[in-house]
Amino acid sequence: MSTFRKKILIAHVVVFLLFLGLMFPFASTTMKRIVMGAMQLRADELIAKIQAAPSEEALARRLKNQKHLTFFRVTVISQERFILYDSHTKLMLGPRFSQEYIIDHPDVVDAFDKGTGYSENYSDLLGQKFAYLSKSFAFQDSTYVLRIAFPHQYLEEISNSFEIGFLTLCTLVLLAFSIMSWAVIHKLTGPIQQITDAIKPYHQGAADEIPEIAIQSTDPKDDFVGLAQTLNSLSKRVKGQIDSLKQERNERAAILDALSEGVIAVDASLIITYINPRAQDLLSAKAEEFMGSKFVVTKLPLCQDLLLKCLEQRKVQSDTLEMQKGRKRLFLDAVALPSGPHGGAILVLHDISAESKMLEMRKDFIANASHELKTPITIVKGFAEALHDNPELSKEIAHEITGKMIRNCDRMNSLVKDLLALADIENLPASSMAKIDLLDLATECKELLVEHHPSTLIFLSTDEAGKYLVTADKGLLRQAIMNLLENATRYSPQPAQITIELKSMEDMVQLEVADKGIGIPEKDLEHIFERFYTVDKSKSQKRGGSGLGLAIVETIVHKHYGSVRASSQVGEGSTFVITLPHA
Ligand code: ADP
Repeated sequence: MSTFRKKILIAHVVVFLLFLGLMFPFASTTMKRIVMGAMQLRADELIAKIQAAPSEEALARRLKNQKHLTFFRVTVISQERFILYDSHTKLMLGPRFSQEYIIDHPDVVDAFDKGTGYSENYSDLLGQKFAYLSKSFAFQDSTYVLRIAFPHQYLEEISNSFEIGFLTLCTLVLLAFSIMSWAVIHKLTGPIQQITDAIKPYHQGAADEIPEIAIQSTDPKDDFVGLAQTLNSLSKRVKGQIDSLKQERNERAAILDALSEGVIAVDASLIITYINPRAQDLLSAKAEEFMGSKFVVTKLPLCQDLLLKCLEQRKVQSDTLEMQKGRKRLFLDAVALPSGPHGGAILVLHDISAESKMLEMRKDFIANASHELKTPITIVKGFAEALHDNPELSKEIAHEITGKMIRNCDRMNSLVKDLLALADIENLPASSMAKIDLLDLATECKELLVEHHPSTLIFLSTDEAGKYLVTADKGLLRQAIMNLLENATRYSPQPAQITIELKSMEDMVQLEVADKGIGIPEKDLEHIFERFYTVDKSKSQKRGGSGLGLAIVETIVHKHYGSVRASSQVGEGSTFVITLPHA
């Protein structure tokens, strides 16, 4: 049952009980009034019958003859307060009865004073309680009082049965009225129940949406139909607003999730309220571990200081920090921004490790390049000064010095060539790419190498497939292969033994250059493709190397969407494998 109906039922019960409570005293006073009215009527009737009697004896006689009008005890009292007549006392007392009994009952006193008197009293003589009504009347120029008595027991009986009857009737009427009004209310509140029933599943959490409320009514102007329609349009609008808010939130969440920056939101007391996936990745932790915890759990004291300052001053704060993530060292730009009306803040972490590394590499590159150029320049300058200062030097010594100067100039030349090559590769135009046969190119390189190093033993082999077409800049790819072949001769005891092997795979072509040279120690293998990296600087320089050869190979191969790898065994030889996609 709905609360509304329950309230109506309770109100009815309360009204009913109140009604009964009020009706009880009303019924009993009404009854008393009715009985008193009847007694007065009877007294008036009796007075009318006896008033005209010629003497007191005649009056008493006439009263005796009116037995049909007296229902219990009747007394007539003279002005001197003597009992002139008493219907019962004389009978009961017999000869002991005396007319001189003085009557001073309150009702009699009232009757003499005011005309009428009423009292209820216990009669010792008759052994029961009576209701007395006294009424004065004029008789033979004097005032007499007629007193009639009515047994209180009958009065109570009559009044009780009246009350019971009256109240039963009232109850029945009220009950009938209640049932009728209940039925009417039930009918009227039916639509409210329908509305409540329709909304209930949403209210109890069983449904996600406020359902459409349908009122079964034939009258379109029905107030409840109007109410249902208003609620329906209201819930539609609310749903629309919730949907758009949800969408907005999802979009924002998607943006935050996709950000390459780590984002952490905190409230005014530094409790973490949001952490995006990138921040979780940077801190190597799951959101559940951080959400709702103090910022201190992130173990980023510098960021905590930034956030505290930002919360305090409500101003953007930024700094750069260094942190360890596993085996990696990360450099982060940290920015703390004030957010929201409740005094929170947002921390944005931008990983600048790659940029830092690039910057570092650039610095190293410039330093290395300068250093590599400075050494031969110093040597050449030294020799030139020696020649300048000593014009008397023998022809042989001068020849030797100039030879050294030429070799150093060659070294500088090849270094500058390598540096320019690296710069060129970075700016490789797409138009220079064409389909080339790797077998033709490898054969060309083999011949070139033999031209430079006639003693070298070089073999070229292919597999059965025989298809080695790739899309490439021929000049650059030639340079990459020549660098590998030059290294193979450079780092092998003479005459160098080199094999070039071509393999055609599903969507790749492989070119393998293997030698039986000095090999590369394992610890150096992972670094040999770095710019200016040399396993043994003096040996490398002696052999005319600058540490840029393999870096050039890797850069060229990467420009062709391929890869290069090396394997080696010290004292046994090295193998370099270039893999390129099929054209
Ligand atoms: P470099 O100009 O010094 O040869 P590279 O970049 O070509 O520079 O090679 C880097 C280092 O790798 C060399 O210093 C050398 O020690 C080693 N290396 C390269 N190729 C070979 C090879 N075929 N055999 C042994 N060591 C090699």
